[in-house]
Amino acid sequence: MLIAARTVAAKASCPECGLPSARVHSRYRRTVWDLATCGRPVKVELEVRRFFCGEPSCDRKIFTEQVDGLTQRHARRSTDLRALLTSIAIALAGRAGARMACLIGAPISRSTLLRMVRALPDPEVGQITVLGVDDFAKKRGNSYGTVLVEWTPIVPSICWTAEPPRT
Ligand SMILES: [Zn+2]
Repeated sequence: MLIAARTVAAKASCPECGLPSARVHSRYRRTVWDLATCGRPVKVELEVRRFFCGEPSCDRKIFTEQVDGLTQRHARRSTDLRALLTSIAIALAGRAGARMACLIGAPISRSTLLRMVRALPDPEVGQITVLGVDDFAKKRGNSYGTVLVEWTPIVPSICWTAEPPRT
């Protein structure tokens, strides 16, 4: 499904300094993939404008307008589609996630799914009470890694006695 659209807002705000601008520099057409409809991929051909920034002290002299909820800078997929694909990538990872995405009309490579997971911000780390450390060799003698795990004690449902096991 192809949707042709263009922006009509009179002004756009500079992402660097926040100053609104109405001075149009140029226009160009960009392609954004959106959530599938009836299992069919949706391609939005969007005409956007570049604006001059009027703030003399701003480093960005020219900026491109973004459409809230649809576009992000340099993104070829809509905000909603990226959120969906990121959720799939977290749940299923690369190969299985790519198969699932293809079934729902959003074909994507397994490598791109994994890049989306890697691009996520690290979760907030609170107070760590017990830290587990383990080393492993990716290639013995050449490359090693370290795993840091916050250890959370699990209260066992069965209490074992201290007696040694019977033989
Ligand atoms: Zn600016």
